[in-house]
Amino acid sequence: MLRVAVVGSGPSGCYTAQSLVQLDPDVLVDVLDRLPCPYGLVRYGVAPDHEKIKSLQNSLRAVLEHERVRFLGGVRIGGPGGVPAERLRELYHAVVYCVGAATDRHLGIPGEELPGSWSATEFVSWYSAHPDVPAGDGFVRDVRSAVVIGVGNVAVDVTRILARAAAELSPTDMPQGALTALAASRVRDIHMVGRRGPSQARFTTKELRELGTLPDAGVVVDPAELARDPGYADPSALPAAQRRNVEVLRGWADAPPAGSGRRIRLRFFLRPVEVLGADGRVAGVRFERTAPDGHGGVTGTGRYEDVEAQLVLRSVGYRGVPLEGLPFDAVTGTVPHLAGRVLRGGVVAPGEYVAGWIKRGPTGVIGSNRPCAKETVTSLLEDAAVLVRRDVPDDAVDTLRAAGAEPVGWPGWQAIERAEAELGASLGRGVVKLPDWEALLRAAGAAGA
Ligand code: NAP
Repeated sequence: MLRVAVVGSGPSGCYTAQSLVQLDPDVLVDVLDRLPCPYGLVRYGVAPDHEKIKSLQNSLRAVLEHERVRFLGGVRIGGPGGVPAERLRELYHAVVYCVGAATDRHLGIPGEELPGSWSATEFVSWYSAHPDVPAGDGFVRDVRSAVVIGVGNVAVDVTRILARAAAELSPTDMPQGALTALAASRVRDIHMVGRRGPSQARFTTKELRELGTLPDAGVVVDPAELARDPGYADPSALPAAQRRNVEVLRGWADAPPAGSGRRIRLRFFLRPVEVLGADGRVAGVRFERTAPDGHGGVTGTGRYEDVEAQLVLRSVGYRGVPLEGLPFDAVTGTVPHLAGRVLRGGVVAPGEYVAGWIKRGPTGVIGSNRPCAKETVTSLLEDAAVLVRRDVPDDAVDTLRAAGAEPVGWPGWQAIERAEAELGASLGRGVVKLPDWEALLRAAGAAGA
């Protein structure tokens, strides 16, 4: 039997496990995750009000419940207290790293670290109940105006969550602390700001359009600002996706919102130059106005605009982090590879593979991970005849325990799911996520996992 460890149980890890068992009848797969819960960004990144995408968990569940796949949560690879990557390599014929892009990119401007300035990743983790981010109301307390920097789909997600009323969020699995804090928040204005023009924004049309459907919020755009983009004035040469975005924006320019609800203010051609502070915390963002340079980029104009804000969310993309014991390209934030085979000093490292964002960078939709995983698994199975000659333990769990891990198996995860259903019922809601390590491990431990 070929024994493979997949590190990470997000979409890329699950699709890797799926490809392995589909393409090889003689493979056993352990899917490891440092959290006691599976599904990675589907559980801790997809917005709670996107129930349809969240329901993808059902197909990922089927993978992890496959008879030749085993989920082992609570197993950290590398880093303090983790199982060293070299040790893991000895326990399996092959290891596939599907660890995603765990951190956020920085702006590199003054004031970025002021209290009240967060990465979108931190904010998303908070309302998704990620146990590494403290529960509480610190993100939105006393916030009337928020600035979201960046115009990708993550920026749209955090903007939409800020703009939704409690009644819209209550049916989701959002943790109770975040729901209560958002319900009590006095956020009125959410400025979502791009440094380039509307035709260069990274959001997809479906996500953009959804902002205009929120019951308690209206979208405001400035027709004169949009018109500075030649692609807005004449979209005929734009690719279809950008053309559709521009048409959605034009619709909002033609019909400004009525009523007194919250306002989502979409701004363009503003490059952040400083996060402004007052009394030791965020008070706004200074932007330099930019102008199109005719080649898809922008140039500064030397004119500035300050936008008041008590909350700043930097939503400028994710970034891979180095995993101790694995090579890393600091420029791309990825692990160097050849069709998924890890390269050490430009040479293939036998038995080590990557898939997902740590392989190709933080782009694409969840489905992009399927072909990516398949390519990696094809490489691995080409190498299998040689890899399987090495002796490895029949079961790695005891060795993982000896190396300091306390694996949470599938029954432990199912106990967490039951605890989340019970918590929701006690609150008069549906499933409500447990927001901290203690509660997760207590629930998992109750299963005697
Ligand atoms: P993204 O799509 O790469 O967008 C990043 C945004 O940040 C861009 O607008 C970029 O502008 C801007 N930016 C980068 N550096 C900046 C700087 N120094 N100053 C100002 N702005 C800066 O990243 P993302 O939104 O984090 O999304 C990551 C991936 O997840 C994407 O593939 C996305 O589609 C996917 N995702 C999908 C969904 C969904 O389908 N519902 C939800 C969430 C995420 P420039 O273009 O000018 O660089």
